[in-house]
Amino acid sequence: MNAVCSQNTMDVACFCPACGELLTSPVEGSSFAVTCPSCRRLPWCHVIRQKQSLRILISPEIVPQIEDIDRFASLYLQPDWDGSVICDLGALDTVPSLLWARLLVLNKRVRCAQHRLVLCWKSSVVREEFFTLNLNRVFEFEDEPT
Ligand SMILES: [Zn+2]
Repeated sequence: MNAVCSQNTMDVACFCPACGELLTSPVEGSSFAVTCPSCRRLPWCHVIRQKQSLRILISPEIVPQIEDIDRFASLYLQPDWDGSVICDLGALDTVPSLLWARLLVLNKRVRCAQHRLVLCWKSSVVREEFFTLNLNRVFEFEDEPT
């Protein structure tokens, strides 16, 4: 599995984490500020379907509520699907502590559904936060050579 962050994700179809609809805007920077054309929510991540995995690009703009994570889990983590979830933090320069807390919830939901969650990042600050908080004991992750 290739968990490396945010590569070749431009111009790929990405989906709403809340309703599963196609988000029409391409995945680049400011498009996280675009609301879903179907449910009118501001997406907390963009979901990209890959061969053996779901890649979720976490928005730097919005921290999901627990209900948002539950909605995502019931929509995407079907029992008949056996892939991994790649949680891509490549768009974030830093991760607020509330978001780390929510990612712990996400990790729990994904594991409960018998899937794997793998974190990846680009920012050296995010990397430092991750290891300082000892999150390497909790999450699977892919560290990129710097
Ligand atoms: Zn939507």
